[in-house]
Amino acid sequence: MEELTHYIGGEHVKGSSGRFADVFNPATGEVQAKVPLASSDEISQAVEIASKAQIVWGAVNPQRRARVMMKFVDLLNRDMDKLAETLSREHGKTIPDAKGDVQRGLEVVEYCIGAPQLLKGEYTDGAGPGIDMYSMRQALGVTAGITPFNFPAMIPMWMFAPAIACGNAFILKPSERDPSVPLMLAELLEEAGLPKGILQVVNGDKQAVDAILDNQVIQSIGFVGSTPIAEYIYGRGCSNGKRVQCFGGAKNHMIIMPDADMDQAADALVGAGYGAAGERCMAISVAVPVGDETADKLIEKLIPRIEKLKVGPYTAGDDIDYGPVVTAAAKQNILGLVKSGVEQGAELVVDGRNFNLQGYEDGFFVGAHLFDRVTPDMDIYKMEIFGPVLSTVRAASYEEAIGLAMDHEYGNGTAIFTRDGDAARDFAHRINIGMVGINVPIPVPLAYHTFGGWKKSVFGDLNQHGPDAFKFYTRTKTITSRWPSGIKEGGEFNFKAMD
Ligand code: NAD
Repeated sequence: MEELTHYIGGEHVKGSSGRFADVFNPATGEVQAKVPLASSDEISQAVEIASKAQIVWGAVNPQRRARVMMKFVDLLNRDMDKLAETLSREHGKTIPDAKGDVQRGLEVVEYCIGAPQLLKGEYTDGAGPGIDMYSMRQALGVTAGITPFNFPAMIPMWMFAPAIACGNAFILKPSERDPSVPLMLAELLEEAGLPKGILQVVNGDKQAVDAILDNQVIQSIGFVGSTPIAEYIYGRGCSNGKRVQCFGGAKNHMIIMPDADMDQAADALVGAGYGAAGERCMAISVAVPVGDETADKLIEKLIPRIEKLKVGPYTAGDDIDYGPVVTAAAKQNILGLVKSGVEQGAELVVDGRNFNLQGYEDGFFVGAHLFDRVTPDMDIYKMEIFGPVLSTVRAASYEEAIGLAMDHEYGNGTAIFTRDGDAARDFAHRINIGMVGINVPIPVPLAYHTFGGWKKSVFGDLNQHGPDAFKFYTRTKTITSRWPSGIKEGGEFNFKAMD
């Protein structure tokens, strides 16, 4: 069986802790590799290398750093098929989805090519007599990121591309469930010209994360994953004096107004609810039709669309709608929540519990489920399911619908489907959620805007990518300088003033 490595100091390095985790092929349920789980010594070793390498890299001018990013974009495009295949084999998502994963990371790398412009400082000429004032953005030093399983290419790139473009070294601790693509990305970035030691990948679990959190040299930590872990990392990282940003879980509501185009809304819900088996932090997991008539029409349109979904392995071709979930434990958790929904009185109108894929009986496939008449006290409403399960909560009015989304503890994304500009505008203004779609079900901002939720979906101030990333990965220094002038007003030189 393949034994994966760390990527430390520009080399593939075998794990020395003696601890490993299994990496599955979720479509077959087979263990396809084992990944080493780093000890705190291995983290310290990577930090030492990063620290030395960063001194040189931080002094490289931003334009040259940007050229490395330019070349990296070319290499990502060159290796797109290989990256997507590796990603699908470990994650389970379809090949088009895997390419999307790489593509949305690549777009942030493209944004980082603007580093010379984005890192420019500010200057006030003549802030006082003979006084000038200027600010510069300086790299933090050694930075680190801890990433989730569901976007193993995109989220690492969202972190390391701006960190490195700003002149930092970066240590990535990817998800132990799909660690191969992050290792490939580190190799590609070095092929693009990045010096050894600037991007290192250290695989691991809680032990490695805790070593990162407690390391005195690491200046900042980016985290994306579930909310309980986000909260833990934010607390421990901050109390250790680090700059920390953590992005957590979600429960994204889509409100369907009576005037919405029902076919468009149903298509959007199927794509946003079941795409990537619901394993997206921007997936829609709650549909909120306004009025019983809207709800009846919507459910009638949803059922045949959901029943037609093609579930299968990524190898079965591009017409597969979604693949398996990531692990057997994830499957059990999803089915456990479905059971609780039935027990707590929700109506299971599409029942995927007995889904079985011939030839892939050991794979982690989960059939599509649709619940109607879900109420806010049920576990399937309160908890993030992270699977192909859509809950419908019927609201009697627009006010009740917006109130539901506002009262939920998560605040990552949301959407409203309507033809009414007034309702859409009111929704966009009042909602206490970070990313809002108007007739757009998954409103993921593009690379040059920023990405981030509100409420329990985020801990920290700045968002991911866009201009915020360049703030997160730099410190501002402001210099006030005074040069006593020998030049008199009007231009005549006053040598006395120079004494
Ligand atoms: P997870 O929280 O289980 O793991 C994320 C990372 O934390 C991994 O690298 C993992 O090794 C590490 N980790 C896990 N347990 C830990 C512990 N006890 N102590 C320290 N580190 C630990 O999340 P996941 O299952 O990989 O990803 C799915 C979650 O991520 C979902 O909740 C999803 O909503 C969220 N997510 C959020 C965003 C966002 O931008 N808000 C984006 C993608 C995913």
